[in-house]
Amino acid sequence: MVSNRELFEEAKRYLPGGVNSPVRAFKAVEGEPIIVRKGEGAYIEDVEGNRYIDFLMSWGPLILGHAHPEVVSAVREAVENGLSFGLTNPYEVELGKEVVAAVPSADRVRFVNSGTEAVMSAIRLARGVTGRKYIVKFDGCYHGHYDSVLVSAGSGVATLAIPGTPGIPEEIAKLTYVLPYNDIEAVEKLFEERGEEIACVIVEPVAGNMGVVPPKAEFLEKLREITRKYGALLIFDEVITGFRLSYGGAQKYFGIEPDLTTLGKVIGGGMPVGAYAGNESYMSQIAPEGNIYQAGTLSGNPVAMAAGLATLRVLKETNPYGELEKKTDRFAGEISKLLTQKGIEHTVNRVGSMLTVFFTDGKVESYEDAKRSDLKLFARFFKALLKNGVLIPPSQFEAWFLSTAHSEEILNEALERIERGIKEL
Ligand SMILES: *Cc1c(COP(=O)(O)O)cnc(C)c1O
Repeated sequence: MVSNRELFEEAKRYLPGGVNSPVRAFKAVEGEPIIVRKGEGAYIEDVEGNRYIDFLMSWGPLILGHAHPEVVSAVREAVENGLSFGLTNPYEVELGKEVVAAVPSADRVRFVNSGTEAVMSAIRLARGVTGRKYIVKFDGCYHGHYDSVLVSAGSGVATLAIPGTPGIPEEIAKLTYVLPYNDIEAVEKLFEERGEEIACVIVEPVAGNMGVVPPKAEFLEKLREITRKYGALLIFDEVITGFRLSYGGAQKYFGIEPDLTTLGKVIGGGMPVGAYAGNESYMSQIAPEGNIYQAGTLSGNPVAMAAGLATLRVLKETNPYGELEKKTDRFAGEISKLLTQKGIEHTVNRVGSMLTVFFTDGKVESYEDAKRSDLKLFARFFKALLKNGVLIPPSQFEAWFLSTAHSEEILNEALERIERGIKEL
């Protein structure tokens, strides 16, 4: 039988860093990555046959757990009829109808193949619609690896971005302003100075990519007001929160409607799907109805659409959100108790079925706060949990996800394993 280590060594000969997405290499926790063979409900299994209770859940899509029977069977059925046509298929129409019915700000939706693509296209649309070129994002929010949003904050509060990686020209980074999350005064100030030049503000309505950071009261309302006042579009990046916080996403959960919404993860049910949506006046400007171009050979792929559709159908029929939230709240509270018993300083942030345990005792309301976490301790915590059969995201700055497959029984088992892990710290 092949071991994780052997297979990863081999992977490194063919794939940069042995992976197709950097976090999978477990570098942030200085750990050895596991190579996954299969997933079932709340569990995954590596190539050595070790089973873990999974709280990574593929970084968010698997709200119904791994290999949900109805999703798998929908995919099987779709596959029988062909993998791709490059022409419109009935699944796209059905999924489109469902997204428009569910997401308050969506009159029309365009499907793409990833969250990154959704964000890239939504920003192009915002620029096309407004004829403006500057965009605003918040420090610590992740919107995929597209140039304009893969940027960091410079020094100071309201700053022009600097490239987040070699390969992004300064000239492009300079079209993005980066502001601190939850800092509405910084937004007001920037808009007073430059409001007329700004095409859009993009925000994770609940941040998931600096670890879970909820919006402060009125942060989203104020963003709505300010963008409207200056004629800039408000984009909610709901790639994580869409169909996760509620069936209508964070906008339904908080009762605030953005102009454009990006979706991904849950709407693909584990298949590569992204989408962007908005009202008719904006969406009608996309080609072929309008002249803002965006396309995709595999967009609306029948197998991917079938997986998304099956996922949404189960969510709609079972409405698991209240139950998920309750379970996650109890689970988060129990973890916090265990850490307190051990005398470990921490803060647990939770919204809906997402949570993060930060190893800092201060409030975590921004990326600055999150960065005060003890990353060495997090790395030890991660490894102690893995050793005891619990997989959490291999970075402090990520969200843990619960799914409907995480029963109370499984969560109790997870808590016992976490308790053992914490004792070993
Ligand atoms: C994951 C994520 C993306 C990027 O999606 P990919 O499918 O990985 O390209 C964009 N925005 C948010 C909020 C995300 O969590």
